[in-house]
Amino acid sequence: LRCYSSTGRGEKERTLGIIKPDGLSGNYTNRIKQVILESGFEISKEMVIQLDEQDAANFYAEHSSKIFFTDLIRYMTSGPVLVMILEKEDAVAHWRNLIGPTDAGKAKITHPHSIRAMCGIDLEKNCIHGSDSHQSAEREIAFFFKEAPSDEAVRKHDEL
Ligand code: UDP
Repeated sequence: LRCYSSTGRGEKERTLGIIKPDGLSGNYTNRIKQVILESGFEISKEMVIQLDEQDAANFYAEHSSKIFFTDLIRYMTSGPVLVMILEKEDAVAHWRNLIGPTDAGKAKITHPHSIRAMCGIDLEKNCIHGSDSHQSAEREIAFFFKEAPSDEAVRKHDEL
């Protein structure tokens, strides 16, 4: 049995990054991109998009029963966002590490070099998104970028 782990040695993985409305309107884009590139990621695709309520609700469907959901949708639709596919080896874990904890207020104390510490404000307005697993990354990339299936998916298909 051959295993096609995307995190295997030397193999690139993809993840999704989003500069949220507060990050874009606060003009943090260039600084964030500098950190991304200096950290060895390749930005393979990007686009600026204004989400409507339905888009944001679909993207964050897993949180639909949470008390913060309505505020989250309002926040994510308050202005355009910049969506990026980021690639490098072990991209999901590295990107989560680089953005820091969800609560940007706490990140300023515990993870002062993280992106959320740099441009976020609090538990909601944390300026940036990162997929939390390989599966989430592929789902989120497909959500924003209609594209041919990844090489990995094609290889898996060919194996069947
Ligand atoms: N969020 C919020 N209140 C909370 C938790 C999360 O407003 O108590 C927002 C915040 O913007 C966060 C997003 O909802 O980034 C998604 O939450 P999740 O728990 O998935 O955190 P993340 O994976 O983004 O760190």
